[in-house]
Amino acid sequence: MEKLFKVIIIGDPTVGKTSFVQRYVNDSYRRDYKGTIGVDFALKVVKWSDRETVKLQLWDIAGQERFTSMTRVYYKDAHACIIMFDLLQKSTFNNAIKWKKDLDSKCTLPDGSNVPCLLLGNKCDLHQQRKVDQEEIETMCKENEFLDWKEISVKENIMIEESMRCLLEDMLVRH
Ligand code: GDP
Ligand code: MG
Repeated sequence: MEKLFKVIIIGDPTVGKTSFVQRYVNDSYRRDYKGTIGVDFALKVVKWSDRETVKLQLWDIAGQERFTSMTRVYYKDAHACIIMFDLLQKSTFNNAIKWKKDLDSKCTLPDGSNVPCLLLGNKCDLHQQRKVDQEEIETMCKENEFLDWKEISVKENIMIEESMRCLLEDMLVRH
């Protein structure tokens, strides 16, 4: 059995969204990734089990973040969402709440429930400079009905696979 899931990735500029997609899909990390305009798509095929293959279509906003709110077209028919922030920039954490509200106001699953959404705090390799502590993230995650949260480092390849597996498990239970 093969399933296709659309996963959208949102969050403020420079939090590491494009790097995340590059890492997960190509297992690469580029230091100076050029921001592009529009939407970038990446496809990752995951062999989940002997019987199940999952095709993940990852949508990366690529430069549109400055509008701070996305069009319905971008969110349409999404199976899951990742909202990313930078552990070193408090404003990106506060804005993650706005992103979640924007998502929920514009998009639901066919059964009317909210799109499952994972909260990712990136750049944990620079933990000495962190501005957001774990308790704050935990509270914010619960209050805003995120599926779960993880601290990741795209640079050091920490918790990338695990994060995506968490999202995939949730999608597979629903579909
Ligand atoms: P986007 O605007 O959200 O797509 O962010 P980018 O993927 O373009 O990344 C913005 C900057 O953050 C780039 O200079 C990346 O190299 C850097 N970056 C991304 N992930 C990490 C990380 O895990 N650790 C560190 N230290 N830097 C990162
Ligand atoms: Mg980008």
